[in-house]
Amino acid sequence: MGEIVGSEGMQSLAAQANRFPPELRSHDRFGNRIDTVEYHPAYHELMFLAFKAGLHSIAWTDERRGAWIGRAALNYLWNQGENGVACPVTMTFASVRVLRNEPSLTREWEAKVLACDYDPRPLPLAEKRAVTIGMAMTERQGGSDLRANSCRAVLSGDGEYELHGQKWFCSAPMSDAFFTLANTGEGLTCFFVPRSLPDGGRNPFLIQRLKDKCGNRSNASSEIEYRGTRARIVGQEGRGIATLIEMAHLTRFDIVVACAGMMRAALNQAFHHALHRRAFGRRLAEQPLMQNVLADLALETEAAALLAFRLARAFDRSGDDEIERRLVRLMTPIAKYWLCKRLPPLVLEAMECLGGNGYVEEAPLARLYREAPLNGIWEGSGNVICLDVLRSLQKEPESMQALLGEIDLGDERLREPIRRVSALLRDPAQAEPQSRRIVESLALALQASLMVRHASRHAADAFCASRLDGDWGRAFGTLPAAVRCGELAERQRLAL
Ligand SMILES: Cc1cc2nc3c(=O)[nH]c(=O)nc-3n(C[C@H](O)[C@H](O)[C@H](O)COP(=O)(O)OP(=O)(O)OC[C@H]3O[C@@H](n4cnc5c(N)ncnc54)[C@H](O)[C@@H]3O)c2cc1C
Repeated sequence: MGEIVGSEGMQSLAAQANRFPPELRSHDRFGNRIDTVEYHPAYHELMFLAFKAGLHSIAWTDERRGAWIGRAALNYLWNQGENGVACPVTMTFASVRVLRNEPSLTREWEAKVLACDYDPRPLPLAEKRAVTIGMAMTERQGGSDLRANSCRAVLSGDGEYELHGQKWFCSAPMSDAFFTLANTGEGLTCFFVPRSLPDGGRNPFLIQRLKDKCGNRSNASSEIEYRGTRARIVGQEGRGIATLIEMAHLTRFDIVVACAGMMRAALNQAFHHALHRRAFGRRLAEQPLMQNVLADLALETEAAALLAFRLARAFDRSGDDEIERRLVRLMTPIAKYWLCKRLPPLVLEAMECLGGNGYVEEAPLARLYREAPLNGIWEGSGNVICLDVLRSLQKEPESMQALLGEIDLGDERLREPIRRVSALLRDPAQAEPQSRRIVESLALALQASLMVRHASRHAADAFCASRLDGDWGRAFGTLPAAVRCGELAERQRLAL
């Protein structure tokens, strides 16, 4: 995967897939609805590379311990190359857990969901070599508050349902099937919607419009309508949100790893430029103030990677280790919130390291900059994630014990943020409005404890001084005087 992502070919595919975005063909020339999205060949090539590598599947198919970490490593690398394709990959990966709620669906679909292949042809399942899965939950009146969903499900004679209503944000609409939510009258229920029917016909799935997005342009996101759309019930009737929450944990995990990978991509570009560009008689990488900027970005990137891969380890072991299972529950939203918040300013600063060259489209930083805010918005925006952390702390206090066990190394620097969190949690009136502070403090304490254990002593001290002890400015490049920035930057250069 490293070879693929680092190749000129991949860079060129990524540039093309984003320069020539997907287009909607709603009707054929005779006026019949076809609801098809046409992608540039570069997109299909990227999809093929990702699915062939098992980016969506090896965590499920390889039973060895470490498979989830291995898959996270692939995902970390992939996101240094192209991010639009990461959306269908992640949804297909995450769908497996929900699919397994329904034995008949597992029997029919799982082998083709997990196949290391990509088959974009709009055909019934039986004729496909491999399939991809999407999810359509968000409606116009609310994405965070899914209880506001108004799509209806009507039972038809053969035990299946017909759906009616609209979804406001549905990415990768050419996926072969979708998990979705609709109300049966007994409450919101999870449904499985195939795009093709077994008789070869297309299930009504009206793509009304493609979104004109800020970034993420290679990936189509659409507004769709169900009009008598055939669907199968998944999980318990009326428990749709609970059924889909399993999928949300996995997509959030992927987002964490993706953010860490995107930070690394931005840092690589900044380093590469600083090592070759000369200004005022020296290379940029030798200028003391640029060293402070690069060292600061490198600390952020290293701490992000440690957090992402600690989470991957927790997922890997959560099946047979209760503490790791609790860590998954709490660490996933904490890491999702924090890395999503740190990514945009980091990409911005990396772009500035390239000067004017960073702001033009040929450098991948412009694309990365437009992509950077997205992960913070979908699958739980910042506030919603912080409220989710609060809920977990209340419902599962054992998760907090697991997290404290992970953080507490007997190091006084790590205890201070925990004391602040405990004080905020003691006042129920303050917990909600202060929940961003709570989550941020927990994230920083966790990252610092990982840096103390796994980074160089000097890097860990610099991280703690700046991020925990407040000896830091409000922008990157403000590490305190005691930090040997040249040395930290050099360490990262060697890792390039
Ligand atoms: C590129 C892209 C792709 C997407 N793809 C899909 C997809 O494939 N399938 C799908 O179902 N959805 C998809 N979405 C939709 C996405 O999941 C929603 O936009 C997201 O869940 C937020 O919902 P919303 O837009 O309705 O915002 P709202 O729910 O209206 O939230 C607006 C803001 O209010 C905040 N907020 C909400 N409730 C509270 C509260 N109680 N207290 C404090 N603050 C609160 C939120 O954090 C957010 O910042 C996609 C979005 C994007 C941008």
